[in-house]
Parts: sequence; structure tokens; C-alpha cells
Amino acid sequence: MNPYEMLMGAAVEAKRLLKGHAGKAGFTRYLESIQYKSRDEIMAIQAWEMSALLKHTVENIPYYSYMKGGLRLEPDTVNEDIKEFPVMTKAIIKENFDRLHDETAKNARRFKTGGTSGTSAIILRDKNEEVHSADEYFNRMAGVIPGRSRLMIRRPESVYFADNPSDVEYSSNMLSRTHGVSPAYMDKERLALLYSLYIKKHPRFIIGITDPVYRFAQYILDDNLKTYEAEAVLLGGQTMLPKYKKTIARAFRTDRIYDRYGATEFGILGHQCGHSDGLHYIPAIHYVEVVDNDYKDVETGVTGQFLVTNLHKRTMPLIRYRIDDLATMTNESCGCGRGFPLIRQFEGRRIEAVVSPKHTYMTPLSFYDAMENFENVADFVAVQTGESTVTMKLLMKHGAFTDLQRLALRKDVNRYLDYPMKLEFEYIDSIDPLPNGKVMNVIGYENYKSGMKHEAPSHGA
Ligand SMILES: [Zn+2]
Repeated sequence: MNPYEMLMGAAVEAKRLLKGHAGKAGFTRYLESIQYKSRDEIMAIQAWEMSALLKHTVENIPYYSYMKGGLRLEPDTVNEDIKEFPVMTKAIIKENFDRLHDETAKNARRFKTGGTSGTSAIILRDKNEEVHSADEYFNRMAGVIPGRSRLMIRRPESVYFADNPSDVEYSSNMLSRTHGVSPAYMDKERLALLYSLYIKKHPRFIIGITDPVYRFAQYILDDNLKTYEAEAVLLGGQTMLPKYKKTIARAFRTDRIYDRYGATEFGILGHQCGHSDGLHYIPAIHYVEVVDNDYKDVETGVTGQFLVTNLHKRTMPLIRYRIDDLATMTNESCGCGRGFPLIRQFEGRRIEAVVSPKHTYMTPLSFYDAMENFENVADFVAVQTGESTVTMKLLMKHGAFTDLQRLALRKDVNRYLDYPMKLEFEYIDSIDPLPNGKVMNVIGYENYKSGMKHEAPSHGA
């Protein structure tokens, strides 16, 4: 046997082990059993899973039937074969919904994809599909196991079925000791309520969308309120900015602040382990790509659009699905010893980035770096209001944004974007979160054009 065959043999063995343990717990145990395998072994498992998925797809999903017989789709060819599959977007799903799922699917439930941009699509998920299969594994990695109390500051899934998101505000599960609070409104009154719940329930874990958790932490620090030492804080849904991490760590008295990345469509995809700034992902579940605007692979370390293929979705496969986020990969191995590779960084929604006419990106993280230099600015929103125009809405701590500061910022922005962007300035009094509790510090041109309003009152500068 050559090394490749040996790897495939190991992959099949692992797969059999998996089949022998049906159900979620079994799958988590399976993931734990492969997590320290070598990168090559893990990628061999991925090739095997990919082959099975792609064969199923061209055979059973009408949208892909034209590809039948055209590609080998064997484990040793799938890495090239998959590049022949079209990139999937929410717009394509909307247009071709009926041809994108298996007609015979009986157990499928409808889910609405996330849509910060206002675009969302319906996807089908079979209840037997291990789509959220990494959730339990990642939770256990962070120490979150059933019975350990947790406070969730995020919209419960049921919210997607409610007519009015604010109808679903609080949920509690005494068995799993999980308390969920909707982050839709985080005003003083709500924060006080949240704090009383926190004190009463004494959660060991805080889990939520990054910015609402940050607001809660800021409220605690501002009022000098008593807190418990958290075992960990798990954050996601937004680009992790340094200001978030610092404040949240102080408020909840822990260094274990883990960023994670996921979506309704496929559950948690990436998770920090505490040994690296990167996020582990599981190739046995997800095939990921980082590509440029023409959907060609970028080099490792270069930021590009993130495409995801979930290898376990069969009823309605999501192949090369464009999630509208930017990501940067790394080949570094993690200090924890896990063989699961790292995604160095997610840089917010693609629509959160300013994109120059040269197709260079400036993400919230870069804006934050640039704005950090100005101590008189409390917060900001950067809105791309034209092909080459950015309107900076500034919330000042004191004084005005001086001409010298404007010049310095312009220089910085143009350096990031490698393009002479025009900068306009406005002052604002507050920054309101979106209905889903997220705050957007950067609003991309697509969003601006689609009429997403920045609600805060503004006055000219
Ligand atoms: Zn690690």
C-alpha cells in the first residue's frame, strides 16, 4: 500500500467508527478521537467525505445534474473537481430553490439564513443531518458541558420564526441551566434586567454576540458592579476588535475569551482553543476556501472571500457557499497540538468592508486600528457612500476632529486601500445597534446602496 492508500484506509476505518456510533454524542466522540491526528490524515478524511457528498449531489440534486458523468469525484480528484462546481450565493438559492434540494427529502425543515445585509434565503435542513455537528465538540473544547450554567446573550433560534423578533426575549432551560436573553434592545433598562438575571443565576459561561456582551461588560464596569469570575466567555457574530476583548475580560474577570464563528446554515464552523489567535475548523465537516473576486484561490495569508462546503448536508447541499465574510488562512499549527487547521482571522462581513475601485478591502479591524490613534474620538461608523467615497461618522469624546487628524486618517485609509479615497466627515450623537443586536462600525457600499439606514441622528461637521 502506498501512503495515500494507507491514509484512505485510516479514513474509512474512522468513518466506520462513526457509523457505529450514531447520534450526536457519538459524532462528538468521533471528532475527539481524530482531533490529534496528523494534518494529512485529517485531510484524507475530508477527501473521502467530499467524494461522497459531491457524488450524491450530481446524482440527486437537479441543479447539478448537468455535471453527471463529467468528473471522477474520487477522493484523489475531489480537490480539483470541486473547483468546477459553481459558487453558491443566497441570490442563486432564491432563484433556484426548487432545483437545489432532493425531492424525496421527508424530514426537512425550513431555515432562514442570516442576513445582516437584508438578503436572506430559505435553506432546508434534514433533522438527521449532522449539520450542527461541531457545536458540541467546540463547546466541550471550551469547557461548556451540560449542567454548567450559561447565560446566552443572543437571539434564540426560535426568533427566526417569530413575526416580531422582540416577542422572543427570554428563555430558560432548567435542566441544561441555560438562560437566554435577546440582545435586540440593550438600553439601560434592559441592561439592569440582564444584570439582575446574571447575579441571580451566577452563570459560569457567558455566550453571545460580541457587541451586546461588550455593552453589558461596559455597563458593569461603568457602574462598578460586582461580577463572578467566569470560566470562559464565548463570542461570535462579529469581528473581534481589541476593545471588545479587553473590556469583556475585565468585567467577567477571565482571560478565557474565545472567539467563534458560525452561521444558521452550518452551525459553529470555527473556534479558538486558547493557544492561538486563530480559529480551529474541522475538515471532516467543512471544506473551506478563501478566494478573490473571480473566485480564484488566494495565497495562504491573504484575505479574501470565504466559501464553505458543508460535507454532511445532503437534503440541500451547500457547495462553495458564499457566506459574505472575509477570512485569512494560515498554515501554522496550533500550540494545543490539535491537527485541525487554523483560520487566522475572520474580518467581518464582506458587506462590512469598504471596497475600493481597485478591489482592495478595508475591514472593521483596519478601521479600528486607524481610529485608535485619535484619543478624542469615542466611536465611529465608516460608511462607503460612493465608489471612492467614505463618510466617517464620528462620535466625539471632546472637541472636534482637526484638519491634521483628517489628513492623517486620509493617509491611513489610502494606504490600506491603495487608492485615493475621498473622505467626508459628520458628527453623530449615538450609534444604535441593528435589530439583531449587532453594531456595524463599517457599512459597505452594497449595504449603503440597498438603503440600510444608519439610524443615529447626525449633524454636519
Ligand atoms: Zn489549538
